[in-house]
Amino acid sequence: MNKLFNRKSLLIVGVLLTVIAITGVMFYKPIMNVFMQQIVRSAMAKKNAPVEDGLYAGLCGTGSPMPDVNRAGPCIAVLAGKHFFIVDAGEGSTRNVLLMNLPIGKADAILLTHFHSDHIADLGEMELQRWVGGSNKTPVDVIGPTGVEQVVQGFNLAFQLDDSYRVAHHGPETVPPTGAGGVAKPFELSAAPDASAVVFDQDGVKITAFKVDHHPVVPAVGYRFDYKGRSIVISGDTVYSESLMEQAKGADVLFHEALNTAMVQLMNDNAAETGSPSLAKVTHDIPGYHSTPEDAAKVAAGAGVRQLIYYHIIPPLPSPILKNMFLGDAKDYFSGPITMGEDGLLVFLPPNSDQIQIKNVLK
Ligand SMILES: [Zn+2]
Ligand SMILES: [Zn+2]
Repeated sequence: MNKLFNRKSLLIVGVLLTVIAITGVMFYKPIMNVFMQQIVRSAMAKKNAPVEDGLYAGLCGTGSPMPDVNRAGPCIAVLAGKHFFIVDAGEGSTRNVLLMNLPIGKADAILLTHFHSDHIADLGEMELQRWVGGSNKTPVDVIGPTGVEQVVQGFNLAFQLDDSYRVAHHGPETVPPTGAGGVAKPFELSAAPDASAVVFDQDGVKITAFKVDHHPVVPAVGYRFDYKGRSIVISGDTVYSESLMEQAKGADVLFHEALNTAMVQLMNDNAAETGSPSLAKVTHDIPGYHSTPEDAAKVAAGAGVRQLIYYHIIPPLPSPILKNMFLGDAKDYFSGPITMGEDGLLVFLPPNSDQIQIKNVLK
C-alpha cells in the first residue's frame, strides 16, 4: 500500500514537473519580453526625468592615465539651465555620460583643459554620441586653448569613415551628415601666468578659462562655471597654482586633481625592483606636474570654497581603505567638506542658495 502510494506520489510529481517544464518553455519568451519591457521602460523614464533649474556637475571620469577598473579618464559634465557642457573626454568617459543619463545630444560644447591623451582619448566617441543622440545638424563646438584645431582635425579625419557608415545605415534624417564631428573653437591667453578669458557667456551661464601650471605641458587651463549665483571650478592638471586659487575665489565647489606622492613612490620602488625602467621613469616624473591632496586643500582654503572634491585620482586605489590614506593631511589645511570623487557622482547646486547636494547616480 505504502509502495503504491509512493508510486502514485512519484507519478503526480513527475506529471507536475513535466507540466511546469512545458509551461516554462512555452511562456519563457513572453515572460522575458515583459521583463525586458519593464527594464526598458524604467530606463526611458529615468532618461526623461525632469531636471530642476540650477548648476549640476557630473563626474563622468575621475581617473588618470593609469589603468583603473573603477574610474574612466578625466571628464566632468556641467549642466546649467538649458546649456550642457562636457569638460575633457578621458578614456571610457562617454559611456559614463550615457549611463548617467546626461543629455549628450544637447551638448553645446566639449571643453578641453589640455591635450594629454587621458583628456582627449574619447573625443571622437563623445562627438559621435552627441551627433547621433540629438540628430544634430551642426558639429559640436570643441573649445580649448590653441592647439585644439589640430586635435579636432585629427579626430574628424579618424571618424570620417564611420560617419559615412552611420549615414548610409540610419539615413540623413536621423544622422544629418552636416552634424558629424567637431568644430575647433580655440582661445588665446596672454603671457601673464594668471591670464584668463571668458569663453562662453549666454543666458546667465558664464565660463571662464584660466591658466594653470602643468609644465612642460603648455597650454594648460582650468575652467570656472557661474550660473544663478552658484559656481564650480575645475582645476584641469596642475601643480599648486595661485592662478587657480584666484579664479576659485568664493566658488561653491572646487574639483581638483590629486596625486599621492608616497603611493606613487611605492610604485616607483616596485618598478625599479621588477626591472620596468619605463614605468620607473614615468612614476619618477609625474609628481613634478601634479598636485598633492594637501596642495589642493591649501588652494581650496585660500580660495574660500565651500567644498573640495578630488578627481583625476593618481594612483588607482583598488581598496576603499586606501581612500583615507590617499587624503594624507589634507584635512589639516582645509576645514570644509572634502569628498573623494568617484565616477557617477552628481553634484547639484540649487540657484541662489548655499546648498550642495551630492549623490552617485551609478550606484
Ligand atoms: Zn591628466
Ligand atoms: Zn595632463
